[in-house]
Amino acid sequence: MTSTLHDHVLDVHELVDQPGASRRVDLAVAAPGDLALPLADLSAPVRLGGVLESVVEGILVRGHVAMDVGLACSRCLEPVGVGLDEPVTELYADPSRVPDDAEPPDEGFELRDGRIDLDPLVRDAIAAAIPAQPRCRPDCAGLCPQCGANRNEVDCDCSDDPTDTRWAALRGLRLPAGPDDTARAET
Ligand SMILES: [Zn+2]
Ligand SMILES: [Zn+2]
Repeated sequence: MTSTLHDHVLDVHELVDQPGASRRVDLAVAAPGDLALPLADLSAPVRLGGVLESVVEGILVRGHVAMDVGLACSRCLEPVGVGLDEPVTELYADPSRVPDDAEPPDEGFELRDGRIDLDPLVRDAIAAAIPAQPRCRPDCAGLCPQCGANRNEVDCDCSDDPTDTRWAALRGLRLPAGPDDTARAET
């Protein structure tokens, strides 16, 4: 059963200092509010499923971050829903267990007061999983560069007809003479 976490902070105190102990989690968490990605709808809940494992250094989180994201097709700009499912493995280190000569825990990935903050984990997983160039379908034909028609839906005649009447008026437009033209006229 999925339980909802109203913020990103998860109480794991029963696992602290119990190496070998573990707990399965199936959580719904809100997407980080300030995770602004252009043209992306991140309003759907994020699901985190996996195992929290107590290790000597702290708490190891292993599982998957899954989310349905609304994006825009990079070719035709139509909305496209993308299901993300990103494997995650993160150690939330107990600062008191980190030897003095070791690297400090990554910022945010710390076990504090028996709690871990899932925000950086969710944030990294979403950023890693979102496709840079989403497609509504693999063979999306995109928009016509001349008239802007969605070529998945209509067959515009732009490429077939170079004398497209919609642009004909531009050919009668005389641009002001540039400096080169003036120089030539004087010689
Ligand atoms: Zn498309
Ligand atoms: Zn066209």
